[in-house]
Amino acid sequence: MMPSNRCIQSTNKDSLYPYYDVIVIGAGIAGLVCAAFLAKGGKKVLILEQHSIPGGYCTSFKRKGFNFDAAVHHIGGCGKWGIVGRCFKTLGIEMDFYPLDPMDHLIFPHFSIEIPADLDEYIVRLQERYPLERDKIKDFFRNFIKLYRATFNNEKSQIIDRYKDQTYGEMLNAFFKNEELKMILSGQWGYIGLPPAQASAIGMCQMMINYLKDGAFFPAGGTQEFTNAIFKKFIDFGGHIMLKSAVKQILYDGKIAIGVKVEDGNEIPSKLIVSNIDAYRTFFELLQGKLPLPFLQKLEEMKESCSFFLLYLGVSEGIDLSKLKRGFYHTATDMSSIEDEWMYVSVPTTIFPTLAPANKQIISVVAYTKEGKYSDDECWKSFKECMTQRTINRLEEYVPDIKKHIEVKDAATSKTLERYTSNTNGAAYGWAVTADQIWENRLSPKTPIDNLYLTGHWTRPGPGVCAVVSSGWGVANLIMENWR
Ligand SMILES: Cc1cc2nc3c(=O)[nH]c(=O)nc-3n(C[C@H](O)[C@H](O)[C@H](O)COP(=O)(O)OP(=O)(O)OC[C@H]3O[C@@H](n4cnc5c(N)ncnc54)[C@H](O)[C@@H]3O)c2cc1C
Repeated sequence: MMPSNRCIQSTNKDSLYPYYDVIVIGAGIAGLVCAAFLAKGGKKVLILEQHSIPGGYCTSFKRKGFNFDAAVHHIGGCGKWGIVGRCFKTLGIEMDFYPLDPMDHLIFPHFSIEIPADLDEYIVRLQERYPLERDKIKDFFRNFIKLYRATFNNEKSQIIDRYKDQTYGEMLNAFFKNEELKMILSGQWGYIGLPPAQASAIGMCQMMINYLKDGAFFPAGGTQEFTNAIFKKFIDFGGHIMLKSAVKQILYDGKIAIGVKVEDGNEIPSKLIVSNIDAYRTFFELLQGKLPLPFLQKLEEMKESCSFFLLYLGVSEGIDLSKLKRGFYHTATDMSSIEDEWMYVSVPTTIFPTLAPANKQIISVVAYTKEGKYSDDECWKSFKECMTQRTINRLEEYVPDIKKHIEVKDAATSKTLERYTSNTNGAAYGWAVTADQIWENRLSPKTPIDNLYLTGHWTRPGPGVCAVVSSGWGVANLIMENWR
């Protein structure tokens, strides 16, 4: 994966300080946001990032003039009043965002539906489509919005108590009888990585209401530009960064963290450390498990989220992609098979044409398959090849002449995602979004070590770019409040 922007580089070695107020491990979106707020607050901050570019899952790469987004396809809450919008305003970052309208499509073998960008309109359309469930639909969304507000404001409330231990499937069953309606309201489960029978009701609510109320957006120039905008602001505030600098150890004197050891053997002291990386690696690899046993046992029991297969296609001019709607293409024929394979398709060049050479287009696919983990590289190679063919064959149903238009083809598996970001098994969303791993059950940003904090999708509030922006911002506030 190559940098899309040449001014993204490490701080000159001669300018580095011998000691930092805060070291942030990992330049994912949460790490960058946290670091930017701390640098804005006058702290001496150093980010250490293992990759040659910042962004984690929010990066892009170029192949033959096509600029592909590596993982993230759109971002919630980028409007004026959304979390990302407010974060960017507070940091003084200017960026154009394109609202996605309609927000999505859900395509099932026997029916399809367009999800409008406006929540009220969505409710009306569902009520018109399922008149017998009219009142239940109203009730369901009233509850959903109330629940969203309560989690957003971090309130202790009855509605949270009612749903905190429920799966989304249980919540749906309590409201609805109509199977097709339940399939529609479950159709976006890919955004949290678990089907309704396993997904937390709170997790699904946070994701759906965030997109439906605060909108889904595509950042001008793609996701690397989004990352680069935060990166540049951090540098403007006087922050330092070392790319290609994996942290191998958090130096710990038995009471507090005193710095980090980087892969070149260099030890950098710091007053405080924020880890934006895989929580399991933070505690078991970087701290070598030197923590209270109950905490480590809890970690051992936690489960990471699923991973995905990704296909990146650059296609030549003269191809008609109008039938390839942005959204989820499910194989499920009823609610009992909703957890089966799906693919999520987007054509980002319809929003931002200059991501591809003139008149050419990009097709981007995220695919979920239950197929398990493969032990050796040969198996992975054949899995990747098989998934590539299978996905192109599925696309062919909507774009019959696709094969003859493919100019660039690349793919990524969970192994690729893990290689570039060190998320265990390429976990897309940190810990799986089950009831026992979300809300107050997700790891706290405060750790058993007083001056070590977590930020990102392995901690609260959860996965997705908007949520990790909120995490990074929240952790920076926590640190600033406790600085004295
Ligand atoms: C295929 C896919 C599609 C997705 N689509 C969307 C989407 O459309 N919208 C959305 O909102 N969310 C999406 N997500 C989820 C979203 O990308 C993540 O939840 C979010 O980006 C996580 O951000 P983060 O800051 O927690 O960390 P990460 O993005 O995981 O970044 C962690 C960073 O730490 C670095 N690092 C790791 N170990 C070390 C070390 N030892 N030393 C130094 N650096 C280290 C990594 O290189 C990386 O840069 C998607 C995820 C995937 C996988």
